[in-house]
Parts: sequence; C-alpha cells; structure tokens
Amino acid sequence: MITINNKKDCTGCHACSNICPKSCISMDSDSEGFWYPVVDYNECIKCGLCIKVCPIINKKTVKNEPKAFACTNKDDAVRMESSSGGIFTLLAEEVIDSGGVVFGAGFDGDFNVIHSSADKKEELEKFRGSKYVQSKIGDEYKKAKEYLNKGVKVLFSGTPCQIGGLKSYLGREYDNLLCIDNICHGVPSPRIWRKYVDYREKIAGAKTKNINFRWKDAGWSGYSLAFYFENGKEYRETVGNDPYMKAYLKNICLRPSCYECEFKTLNRQSDLTLGDFWGVNSILPNFDDNKGTSLVFVNSKVGEAFFNKISDKMNKTEVDINRAVVYNSSAIKSSAYNPKRGKFFEDSEKLSFDKLVSKYCADSIIVKVKRILRKILKP
Ligand SMILES: Cc1cc2nc3c(=O)[nH]c(=O)nc-3n(C[C@H](O)[C@H](O)[C@H](O)COP(=O)(O)OP(=O)(O)OC[C@H]3O[C@@H](n4cnc5c(N)ncnc54)[C@H](O)[C@@H]3O)c2cc1C
Ligand code: SF4
Ligand code: SF4
Ligand code: SF4
Repeated sequence: MITINNKKDCTGCHACSNICPKSCISMDSDSEGFWYPVVDYNECIKCGLCIKVCPIINKKTVKNEPKAFACTNKDDAVRMESSSGGIFTLLAEEVIDSGGVVFGAGFDGDFNVIHSSADKKEELEKFRGSKYVQSKIGDEYKKAKEYLNKGVKVLFSGTPCQIGGLKSYLGREYDNLLCIDNICHGVPSPRIWRKYVDYREKIAGAKTKNINFRWKDAGWSGYSLAFYFENGKEYRETVGNDPYMKAYLKNICLRPSCYECEFKTLNRQSDLTLGDFWGVNSILPNFDDNKGTSLVFVNSKVGEAFFNKISDKMNKTEVDINRAVVYNSSAIKSSAYNPKRGKFFEDSEKLSFDKLVSKYCADSIIVKVKRILRKILKP
C-alpha cells in the first residue's frame, strides 16, 4: 500500500484514495495543511492499486507538438470576471451546450477551495477565476469516471498534477474527455489560506460574502485580491502589497512537490493548457488592452477540435511557443525553494497573519525604492 517517504513525492492528487476498493485511504492534512494519503491498515487488502495509480511512482511521458496562441474572449464582461482572457468559460459553455459536465475548482461555504462539477451554464461562475490555494479533489475523479462510462462528455480542469492524477486513475483514454490544465506557479497551503480568511474576517468584523483573487478593474497587469464581507465592507489590495499574495509569490508556503514539479513541461497530459500571456505587450503589443490575454497551448487533436469549435467567439493569434514561455517560466520551471519556508510554517501557529508575513516576506530595499520611484514618477 501507498507510503509517503518524502513529501515532495506526493502532489495530493487523490488518485490513490479514489481507486482504493476498500475506501481505506483518507487524505489527511499534515502540520503544514497539505493533504497526504493515510491508510487504515485494518481494512487494507493489499491489492496494490494505490501504488499502481500514483502518477509520481508511475511516471508517464507524453510526446506532443503543442501550438501556442494569444487569445481573448470577445465577451468583455466574462473576460473581466476571469483571470486572464476568459477562455475557460468558452470551453466550459461549449461542453455544457453539448450535454456535457464540467469539473473545476470553486469555493465551499467557508471559502475553502474544492473541486466539484456543473452541468448548467449558470453554475460555471463558481469555477471562473483562479483560486491561489490547493483545491481538494475529494471523490471527483470517481464521479468523472461514472459520467465518462455513461458516454457523457466531460471537461475536467485542474492543475497539471491533478490532470496527471485523473489520467492515471482512469487508466485508459476516453473519446468523451477533455482535460484542461493551467500554467502553474504552485499551490499554497490550505491551512495558510484559512488563516488568512480568518484574519480578514476578524478585521472586517464579519463573515466573507465573496472573494476575487484577480480583481481587474484597475487593469489585468496590476490586479488585486478582493474580499467582500457580509456587513458591506470590502478589502482590496494589489498583488504586490496583499500579504497572502506576497507570501505566495515569495514561494514560502507552496506544497513541497511544487519545488520539484514533474508536470512542468511542454509535453503535457492535458489537451489544452491555459495561462496568462504575460509577455503579450512585448510580443503582440497591439493585442494587449490590459483586460487580460490568455496564453493557450493546444496539446492534442482533441484539444485542437475544441479550440476550433470556440474560434469564432475569441480573438486569437498564433505565437512561437518558445518565445511565449520566456515571459512565463512557470510553464516549464519549478518555483525556487524559499530557505525560510520551514521557519515560516513553524511560526505560522504562533504569529498573527500580518506579523508572520512582515517577518518572513518583507520587501528588499531595492523593491521598496522601486515602488517609491514608481509612485513619484506616475503621471
Ligand atoms: C494555482 C494556480 C497557479 C497558476 N499559476 C500561473 C502562472 O504561474 N502563470 C500563468 O500564466 N498562469 C497561472 N495560472 C493560470 C491563470 O491564473 C488562469 O487560471 C488561466 O489563465 C485561465 O484563465 P481564464 O481567464 O481562461 O479562465 P478562468 O475563469 O480565470 O479560469 C478558471 C479555471 O481555473 C481553474 N482553477 C481555479 N482555481 C484552481 C485551483 N486552485 N486549482 C485548480 N484549478 C483551478 C478552474 O477550475 C477553471 O478551470 C495559475 C492558476 C492556478 C489555479
Ligand atoms: S493496497 Fe488496495 S486496499 Fe490497501 S490501501 Fe491500497 S488500494 Fe486500498
Ligand atoms: S496518488 Fe497522488 S495523492 Fe496518492 S500518493 Fe500518489 S501523488 Fe500522492
Ligand atoms: S507546481 Fe506542479 S506539483 Fe505543484 S500544484 Fe502545480 S502541477 Fe502540481
């Protein structure tokens, strides 16, 4: 049965817990707040299926020739609600229009991030927008398989390791499956995210009503994290100043597997990959209106067929993939390990959120000077 000797060798994908015929694997949080499989040895029948489906133990190599595109959804309202160019919504609507079901990451009632499914367009809102925290798969691979076996079209979206886990769990190809992954910086700890939500609610004196990780009204490139509270209060702070996003982008609270990610490659298991086209203002300056442009990799024939189906609903231009990833190294390179990570997690129990982040994620003098200069020089 599955045993984790080194935490970096488990992405928390849930393939092992979904396959177990005795349901004797629970995914439990460790002290940092990341899920790992824990086997109930009294129930285990030693069938070995959990080892057989683990995508880290059974590495899969794929060889494809992806094409890359700069894309924007022609519907500006959807684009503004989405993280980059709003391409996920177009694909999801296409699948639902053909009677299919969409799996993705959304908030539960307490703003924890979980995977679930939707078979109506009105429900897609819950998946729209990136949530920068690890999403819990739960039993969703099992549910996706049930739909696939009934011949229902399934769109499954997730991080590259979640798509790797799904493919491994399914164990065979399905004609009715479309897999979408994202360019992935890494996933922060759900426990640190919980601490942050609690901290914001304490300051606001109310429960959270909604959260937007990518509030773009002041522009896509200078996006903010926004909280809306039940008492009408709001909190908004730019990505460079919000303490949670600071901790995320300083790589201090990522899952151990994210520092040596095996899924960062241009030869992906997904059919389509979505990301922010951060280099668009240099590569295609006329395309950039600062409302968000997606970088889309078309990885497979299935992906190409779906991409062509939504073509008339988006603006798109093909780009050289190698040039595009120069501006988006997360596509192919793991985030650098932060040497203060261990101490950060140790102190995370004791310190309040603001004190924790000021202690471990303070900006360097250079960054501070640059920020002051930007303010002074701003026209
Ligand atoms: C954890 C994470 C890290 C990312 N890192 C990068 C990066 O470094 N560089 C880059 O260019 N792009 C990154 N992205 C992708 C980017 O933020 C957009 O999600 C992507 O461009 C799709 O945008 P969209 O406008 O088409 O659709 P949107 O509506 O913004 O996308 C929503 C899609 O994201 C999925 N999703 C949301 N949150 C999660 C989650 N926690 N786990 C799994 N799936 C999720 C939803 O299921 C849905 O499929 C990251 C996304 C996530 C979730
Ligand atoms: S060996 Fe079989 S029964 Fe035991 S934990 Fe793994 S999948 Fe479950
Ligand atoms: S199948 Fe996924 S969750 Fe289970 S041990 Fe392997 S990587 Fe971890
Ligand atoms: S960086 Fe790699 S291991 Fe971490 S969430 Fe993304 S795909 Fe998974």
